[in-house]
Amino acid sequence: MSDTLFSKIINREIPADILYEDEDALAFADINPQAPVHFLVIPKKPIATINDIEEEDKAVVGHLYLVAAKLAKDMGFAEEGYRAVMNCNPYGGQTVYHLHLHVLAGKPMGWPPYQETLKTE
Ligand code: 5GP
Repeated sequence: MSDTLFSKIINREIPADILYEDEDALAFADINPQAPVHFLVIPKKPIATINDIEEEDKAVVGHLYLVAAKLAKDMGFAEEGYRAVMNCNPYGGQTVYHLHLHVLAGKPMGWPPYQETLKTE
């Protein structure tokens, strides 16, 4: 997989507001927040999409959710609630091809996450 923006953030080649780091994962604020709280939790391993997760990645992908839940607790929004979502490929809205878990909080989330296109004919 080619280097993405997120590999550069892991390697400190471009700056980010880093909230958490350990051996396997990094969490940082999204540059274009879609909620009062919006950060990304990524594996250090450069997995491109959900489709590219392999058997050997099960633990690290599960770990992303544990990091999200820990930060939710530490940042005080665990009880009130939040959305944790991964987008996959163009129809999923993915723009950066390094797996990432979006964590959105601080206001009630809407559902469903899409709108039907209105037919005008
Ligand atoms: P996707 O659309 O792939 O699910 O999400 C990519 C996310 O990465 C977007 O929410 C976008 O705002 C965020 N993003 C893109 N470039 C950067 C960057 O350079 N720094 C940070 N912190 N976030 C970024």
